[in-house]
Amino acid sequence: MEKAKSFAPSRRDFLKAGGIALLGSAAAAGAFAAVPPVRAFAEEEGAATVEAGIANFDTDLYAQVFPTKVRYVPVVDAPTDMDRQGKVAFELREIGEDEIVRTEETDVLVAGCGITGVCAALSASDDGATRVLCLEKMSEGRGMFEGMGVTGGAAMAAADYVCDKPLMMDRMRHAAYYRVPIDPIKLWADRSPEAADWLQAKFDEGEGEITEGFKINNENAHHFDVPQTEVTFTSPQWSEQTIKNAGGAGIYIVKDLANTLSKRANAEVRYRSAVVKLEREEGGRVTGAICKDGEGYFRVNAAKGVVLATGGFDANPAMLKAWCRPEDIANAASWCPNYGTTGDGQLMGLAVGGQMDPLPAAVMNFDFGSPESFYSSNLGITGLVAGGLMINEEGRRFASESLPFQARSNAITAQRHYGENCWRVASSAQVPAPAVLEALEPFKEKGWAFEADSLEELAALMEVPADTLVAEVARFNTFVDNKLDEDFNRPMEKAVKIEGEKYYAVKHQSSILATVSGLVVDYECRVLDYDNEVIPGLYAAGGASGGFFHTNYPRHIFGPSIGRCVTFGFVSGQSAAQGV
Ligand SMILES: Cc1cc2nc3c(=O)[nH]c(=O)nc-3n(C[C@H](O)[C@H](O)[C@H](O)COP(=O)(O)OP(=O)(O)OC[C@H]3O[C@@H](n4cnc5c(N)ncnc54)[C@H](O)[C@@H]3O)c2cc1C
Repeated sequence: MEKAKSFAPSRRDFLKAGGIALLGSAAAAGAFAAVPPVRAFAEEEGAATVEAGIANFDTDLYAQVFPTKVRYVPVVDAPTDMDRQGKVAFELREIGEDEIVRTEETDVLVAGCGITGVCAALSASDDGATRVLCLEKMSEGRGMFEGMGVTGGAAMAAADYVCDKPLMMDRMRHAAYYRVPIDPIKLWADRSPEAADWLQAKFDEGEGEITEGFKINNENAHHFDVPQTEVTFTSPQWSEQTIKNAGGAGIYIVKDLANTLSKRANAEVRYRSAVVKLEREEGGRVTGAICKDGEGYFRVNAAKGVVLATGGFDANPAMLKAWCRPEDIANAASWCPNYGTTGDGQLMGLAVGGQMDPLPAAVMNFDFGSPESFYSSNLGITGLVAGGLMINEEGRRFASESLPFQARSNAITAQRHYGENCWRVASSAQVPAPAVLEALEPFKEKGWAFEADSLEELAALMEVPADTLVAEVARFNTFVDNKLDEDFNRPMEKAVKIEGEKYYAVKHQSSILATVSGLVVDYECRVLDYDNEVIPGLYAAGGASGGFFHTNYPRHIFGPSIGRCVTFGFVSGQSAAQGV
């Protein structure tokens, strides 16, 4: 296989690909030191293109790409300022033979080198013989996570915990209101223990000194009774800041795994190289794909198959608008520094007959959204935000503050103006440490946070009716006395009254971390068509795959997205290499 040319990435690309805040702090902490640069980059020009050849996103609602007749459902066109536009690589048009500059041969082509892609590529190349080419469109594969949900494995066994698998599957299906096929959840429940142990073996093969550990969470967060599933990761090479940053550990995990992959004789990983369009024989196998790097379009023939591991479409505002609920994106901030997730895998799969999850698509939505981004824990105000009451623009409390993230986020977007003016209201009694008040200063300067001597004064700053706010706080304080939340059933054991010398309000919106809907797959991660027939040679895994979540990302279950990414990455790689 030919190598693409080397070049140093520009600062602009670095920022776009990795996110300055996370990578900057990690680099300063020396976290990159142990991982040598391992690969070549393709030329900057000619990497993934924007909108080339695709239907008009605004008018066609991505409908043209569906292999089956689609309906147009009229929904309110709620304004949104989600504008995080990554470079779309997918092209619907015929790409002429005269445009193709070379042809490469491999056994398994993996599209995307995030956690799913790197797992698929490692798994496919584990036998030492199967040739694997993993193409990543950005200068780094996305890696954003800290926890992985599994139903067993050595880390869990070492803690003497046994996950109740039938209960777990039931909880996952409940979370989707049973709008899911049988196999994807069963695949995760059956094989995630094996995948977790396999992942630890890949860490042992690498240089990152990463170890899995089992974490016990509150199994009954607001009566969402679920078994334990969370495996977390540590490394002596990581700084405290790395672990504190939401999703920070994932960056180094993906880096370490990609480094291991690049050392294998039968595998290659290339960056700034996009998979653009699948090639399928008429009604038959997917034989490979047209791809693109700095030299232009090239054909990759994949004798055993193609794995789509391209993630979601959270960096594609038009696609979010076309496939998600308006309220999910109306006033949500975006929280992910990687711009590679533009839905290429979903579109490529649809274009060869694949079945997409039913719409609207499920988003991984959290609260803790600021008007621009996310109140990440490293910003230092999480304690105060988390301690405050959820108050809407009418001054009314509107949800239990102890709900799981996605439920709080949904409650926010259900408020007037899709939750644009929602708040957390706290008092001196909720200030966990004086440092929090210092950390609040920049937010006060931006007009996102207020401090006042009384609730009436605070209400005026928030522009909400003072009598309503005062009454709501007084009512909540009686709930604390009586240990019973008569309005929203919040568990009150640890609740503290809103009272003291000072009162605080922090703007509190919804935020989106990822989308989690994609191409429906079977127990072997093979992509199905609309008759539930397998499309030979085509596999999907992780955020690009479907049949697992519906309506919402169920954050009350711990780490199911990364659990799916690792398990389905592992299984899809195996299936492709073995020609299943
Ligand atoms: C801050 C944050 C914290 C999170 N924490 C957790 C957590 O603790 N637990 C959890 O379960 N989930 C968590 N998530 C969600 C998690 O990040 C995603 O579920 C996960 O990244 C999906 O992995 P993936 O490999 O399938 O896709 P991605 O990570 O999105 O990777 C896909 C890759 O494919 C590349 N790509 C796209 N199109 C192409 C193309 N055409 N050709 C080549 N390459 C392409 C992209 O550039 C990208 O690198 C978190 C998300 C965020 C933002």
